[in-house]
Amino acid sequence: MKRYQHYIDGAFVDPAGQEWFETVNPYTAKPWAEIARGTAADMERAVDAAHLALHKGEWAAYTASQRGALLRRIGDLIAENAEFLAEVEVRDNGKLMAEMLGQLRYLPNYYYYYGGLADKIEGSVMPLDKKGYFAYSEYEPLGVIGIITPWNSPLNLTTWKLAPALAAGNTVVIKPSEFTSASMLELVSLIEKAGAPPGLVNVVTGFGADVGPALTDSPKVAKIAFTGSDETGRKIYAAAAKTMKHVTMELGGKSPNIIFDDANLEDAVNGAISGIFAATGQTCIAGSRLLVQNSIHDEVVERLVKIAGTARMGDPSRMETQVGPVTTMPQYEKVLSYIDIAKGEGARLVTGGFPAKRSECGNGWFVEPTIFDDVTADMRIAQEEVFGPVLSILRFDDEEDAIEIANNTIYGLAAGVWTADIARAFRMSKGLRAGTVWINTYRAISYMVPFGGYKQSGIGRENGAEMIKEYLQTKSVWIDIGAAKSNPFVQR
Ligand code: NAD
Repeated sequence: MKRYQHYIDGAFVDPAGQEWFETVNPYTAKPWAEIARGTAADMERAVDAAHLALHKGEWAAYTASQRGALLRRIGDLIAENAEFLAEVEVRDNGKLMAEMLGQLRYLPNYYYYYGGLADKIEGSVMPLDKKGYFAYSEYEPLGVIGIITPWNSPLNLTTWKLAPALAAGNTVVIKPSEFTSASMLELVSLIEKAGAPPGLVNVVTGFGADVGPALTDSPKVAKIAFTGSDETGRKIYAAAAKTMKHVTMELGGKSPNIIFDDANLEDAVNGAISGIFAATGQTCIAGSRLLVQNSIHDEVVERLVKIAGTARMGDPSRMETQVGPVTTMPQYEKVLSYIDIAKGEGARLVTGGFPAKRSECGNGWFVEPTIFDDVTADMRIAQEEVFGPVLSILRFDDEEDAIEIANNTIYGLAAGVWTADIARAFRMSKGLRAGTVWINTYRAISYMVPFGGYKQSGIGRENGAEMIKEYLQTKSVWIDIGAAKSNPFVQR
């Protein structure tokens, strides 16, 4: 079995404790590689290396244009190796090759985009209302950035943080999910090949509780950029507060996908399917609540059941597969437990609702695409994130009703609206409390478009030109160029 070491200070190294753990292929349910089991000692070493690289050595002397050039070289190497990286991700997280290949081929764009921004980070000269002074502001990197990511789209979600962090001149320590660490270690080999100086990018693997605190509590770390569950997010936010760190938090969702009776039903139903069964529902933006206008309810349910029942399940590495396994055993058990909860609450099961045992599913952790109808807003299945292929259908009467139901959760990550009426689309997008609203589409993502959550779905935004400021801090400089000498005991 292949062994993956940590990557610290420009070298692949064994864990201090010499312990390893197995990473499992969710399709075969068999281990395929060993991952270094990190301890606080490994994390401290990585943080020290990143801290040193920030102030001394090669990276500290890079010009902004050199940073941009490094990012472009990383992008080129990802483009050359996209297929290989996608294969590793599919083996480790069981997501569809069709999806991961698309994601990996798109990934270089983030490095090109933020690489292009690296030498366009410009400060300002203020006109000033006080005579005899000159004042300007400039941007500086925040410092060491801790990047903590989940298992569902490892390289994609890391890149959303890594590319702007490097473009802004920071150094980073990455802690990938213990379930899907392998692709990050393959990527860091490419980053090394691109010529990254030692200490710039460090990767420490292992379990959150073992290595996390040495990152989130360290006074040498300036910011934590986190994607993951809200439960872990709360812990990290509290830990970061102790040393007054910056944070970006991309957390969970219970996103509403809303179909009005004037919508193109074929597109809307496909959008609903893509919202919940793509990626086996394991995406923070899953449209897990489908709000359907009463007048079209029966037709929409009938169409959905037909597509869900005929979805091709099986080996995620085959391009024709439509629904793959759940990524982890605990997640598989969680999904099945939510199905029981929904049944117990009186939601009406219209399709699926059990582990998939078709022969194409091998020994993998598969759950049949599941749809519950007659779900009401007070049910747990309408309020809590399942993170699996389980759709809840809720009915509504009119726009006002739809907005009220849609906004009635602690989350606010995304929402979809299906309507042929442009004025209604605008009204709905204004009324929805969500960081992203898709009109007549779902799950569209770009490096140019800000992404993040309202309410308890998160803090801060990722992607888009402005978001590079999430990795910068402002310094203001005042120069006396002949100001009148004033009373030293009062403010100038
Ligand atoms: P998780 O919160 O369990 O783990 C995320 C990461 O945090 C892992 O790397 C884990 O090891 C680490 N971690 C755990 N405890 C830690 C601690 N005490 N200190 C530091 N790090 C710690 O999440 P998961 O189960 O891997 O991922 C699924 C969740 O992620 C879902 O809830 C989903 O909604 C969310 N998610 C959100 C987005 C988004 O952009 N908003 C995207 C993908 C996933």
